[in-house]
Amino acid sequence: MIEIIKEGKYDKKIATCQFCGCEFTFDKRDVQSRSDGEFPFTRIEKTLLYVLCPCCNAEIREWSDYPTNHKQNEL
Ligand SMILES: [Zn+2]
Repeated sequence: MIEIIKEGKYDKKIATCQFCGCEFTFDKRDVQSRSDGEFPFTRIEKTLLYVLCPCCNAEIREWSDYPTNHKQNEL
């Protein structure tokens, strides 16, 4: 039986949904982006990075690094 202790390759992030209160983890494969218009007086496109809340599908744009010592604190 395989059990992942620490996932490789992708850094985990943690976010709290400000709309429904859901706390969840994700990694950069879950981050989506969309165009958010252009900066005023330029042709530089704004890109919005977001993840979707797994509970209510809201766009979450703020998150923090998943604490790597999380598991040790639990033991
Ligand atoms: Zn939510």
